[in-house]
Amino acid sequence: MKPSERVSIVTGGGHGIGRAIADRLVADGGRVVVFERDAARSAELQHSANGRLDALKVDVSSEAEVRRAMHEVAERHGRLHALVNNAGIADPNGPPIDELSLEQWHRVLETNLTGMFLCVKHALPALRRATAGAIVNIASTRALQSEPNTEAYAASKGGIVALTHALAMSLGPKIRVNVVSPGWIDTSDERNGLREEDHAQHPVGRAGVPEDIAALVSFLLSDQAGFITGQNFIADGGMTRKMIYAE
Ligand code: NDP
Repeated sequence: MKPSERVSIVTGGGHGIGRAIADRLVADGGRVVVFERDAARSAELQHSANGRLDALKVDVSSEAEVRRAMHEVAERHGRLHALVNNAGIADPNGPPIDELSLEQWHRVLETNLTGMFLCVKHALPALRRATAGAIVNIASTRALQSEPNTEAYAASKGGIVALTHALAMSLGPKIRVNVVSPGWIDTSDERNGLREEDHAQHPVGRAGVPEDIAALVSFLLSDQAGFITGQNFIADGGMTRKMIYAE
């Protein structure tokens, strides 16, 4: 298939890692529809990149909005070749578990995990119309290791890894499903939001940039990754392989 015929959806594709993924898939020659919950950000992206990048205002945690948006993409493009479930919220300074409200817990799980379930469910009719489809879900190294007081985020990201291998079994052989787990990625607009020591502690000598994740996602969506499904790919500059002892 010609790259120009490939249609992808990137959720949360208006900022940070998602924006880099959307730009990379356009640079690869495809068409991308971004789902963003923020109306202004969504409007800004509409009909950009010579019409190859478009945006819809969608909150991925709302089944009604996701259903409507997937229907619109199917009407406009017919088929869908790729879905990148990237939208997520972090709660880095979350409260201790004994102060974590059920409402806060639900907010993180509904955005990060339930949003993925909804997007996959309602994308399936259009994905199945393509000759071959691929899904990449964005988790985190927080699925594997934690700091204190990050229960909701860690649980949502662990859930994404499990959801991914379950989907890979259910949707194969026509649709492949993989997960990318980023480590520390600098998504500040100036790309200089980190200190020297933040970079130096990484075995590769630097923290990540959104383009590091976009390159991996691009490969996993491509036909070159046709033998890969159900896997979790860690892109963290080696941090989860680093042994740490007290000084
Ligand atoms: P950003 O906050 O920079 O971008 C996330 C985008 O998703 C924003 O545009 C955000 O909009 C949007 N979004 C959030 N909630 C929803 C929703 N309910 N519906 C639609 N869009 C939504 O985050 P990052 O680029 O840093 O993170 C992207 C993904 O990567 C997340 O899943 C995150 O957990 C994961 N990740 C990030 C790491 C990092 O170091 N940056 C490390 C590991 C994983 P809004 O601004 O309105 O919230």
